Amino acid sequence: MVTPPVQRSGHAIVVGASMAGLLAARVLAETFAQVTVVDRDALPDEPIARRGVPQGRHAHGLLARGREILEELFPGLTEELVSRHGAVAADIQRDAAWINDGHPMRRDFADMLCLVATRPLLEWYVRDRVTALPGVTLRPNTEALGLVAAGNGSGTSPTRRRAGRVNGLRVLASGEETVLAADLVVDATGRSNRGPTWLAELGYEAPTEEKIDPGLVYVSATFERKPDDYDGIAAVVGATLANPRGGVVLAVENDQWMVTLYGMGDEAPTDAQSYVEWAARLPRPDIHQAIAEAPVVEAPRRMRIGPSTWRRYDKLRRFPEGFLVIGDAICALNPAYGQGMTTAAVEALALRDCLARGRRGLAKRFFARAAKIVAIPWSVAVTADLRFPHVQGRRTRAVRFLNWYIARVHRVAARDGAVGKAFLRVANLIDPPQRLFAPAIAAKVLRGH
Ligand SMILES: Cc1cc2nc3c(=O)[nH]c(=O)nc-3n(C[C@H](O)[C@H](O)[C@H](O)COP(=O)(O)OP(=O)(O)OC[C@H]3O[C@@H](n4cnc5c(N)ncnc54)[C@H](O)[C@@H]3O)c2cc1C
Repeated sequence: MVTPPVQRSGHAIVVGASMAGLLAARVLAETFAQVTVVDRDALPDEPIARRGVPQGRHAHGLLARGREILEELFPGLTEELVSRHGAVAADIQRDAAWINDGHPMRRDFADMLCLVATRPLLEWYVRDRVTALPGVTLRPNTEALGLVAAGNGSGTSPTRRRAGRVNGLRVLASGEETVLAADLVVDATGRSNRGPTWLAELGYEAPTEEKIDPGLVYVSATFERKPDDYDGIAAVVGATLANPRGGVVLAVENDQWMVTLYGMGDEAPTDAQSYVEWAARLPRPDIHQAIAEAPVVEAPRRMRIGPSTWRRYDKLRRFPEGFLVIGDAICALNPAYGQGMTTAAVEALALRDCLARGRRGLAKRFFARAAKIVAIPWSVAVTADLRFPHVQGRRTRAVRFLNWYIARVHRVAARDGAVGKAFLRVANLIDPPQRLFAPAIAAKVLRGH
């Protein structure tokens, strides 16, 4: 039976042309006739960092699940990024070093592809593909100011009256304020988003927030890369209790090393020579090895990472039709675990599924799905953060047990490639965390080898 083509109708506006917004636009374009993506930045037509995405100057690891979804949404992405734009792809376990709790994971073939590129390259490529879709328009230099809604919702008293359906967005462009009419507005404005304020302006409650602050400071730089600098396309060195410093080095396009170093209560210096020396103080020397002799391309830059925040839109009892939130605006995760872009990609697929069931009650259905999606990376990151005594939060029995178990996983993974692979499949959001307790893995972990 031939499926009839979907009748595309209506206008969706996505606020924020970063990864979550672009991926949302990609799936919205399947059912909306018109999709407008607004961003207050100029959106450069080359792969360079921009003001609205300051994290673009720091290492961005794309998890294996994220790469798979990007490939599904933009067929040929991996091949094009590698062959035309100099990105690097290889096996995630055999060709990259993973050092957890000070234990280097055994290098083995994991059959999971790791795509390494800078964040500006990845975002620029995705933006180019999204802009080429029928019905999609980009509006750079356009700042969203608030939502516009029609009719009255179900509020009872005049002071608590809620607006009904969202049907537009107030924007500021070229010094002029206008309203863009829309059937759906999607907030993809990231960590510092104003969605809760916009809801309050319409008489709706703001979502409650869960927060945890790992107290991280990132310092990142790029270096020239030569083939014999280091044996691998990446090294990820996790902080340990005894030495709470970590970092990542990635073999990115233009034959460069992209390096991010972070400390908890200690931070990497920003002058290039001391930065390289500081890399030698990490729990393992891999990153230092890669850059010890390499000339600096971009000097170190610092960024304080704020608290990880999960806004519980799924718990709101009332929410206006015609409005959605996606990506970091729902949940901004600790970036040290590299989950943000992948979580946004999984949410985009969930949005596609929700739209396939119609537009009624979209927000409620989508937030319920997004909460299930976010729960996994959130609990993985929070559990790992709570290993460190300076991080405030509830160390439940489950948290303590998980950290005890994962520490054993890392020890065993140093010698057993299958255990390492099981860990990487979970850390890359391919498998659910329960897989680490499958009998074959648990037996090895509990035996100690
Ligand atoms: C230092 C750091 C390192 C990270 N490393 C990784 C990593 O290794 N791997 C990974 O997967 N993720 C990483 N992340 C997370 C990743 O960057 C995000 O998860 C990802 O970009 C998705 O975020 P987003 O699109 O929701 O929001 P953002 O990327 O924050 O984008 C928000 C967009 O909204 C625009 N905007 C904001 N306000 C307005 C407004 N009022 N009007 C119009 N436009 C507006 C901004 O210009 C911007 O384009 C890292 C994050 C940080 C901070």
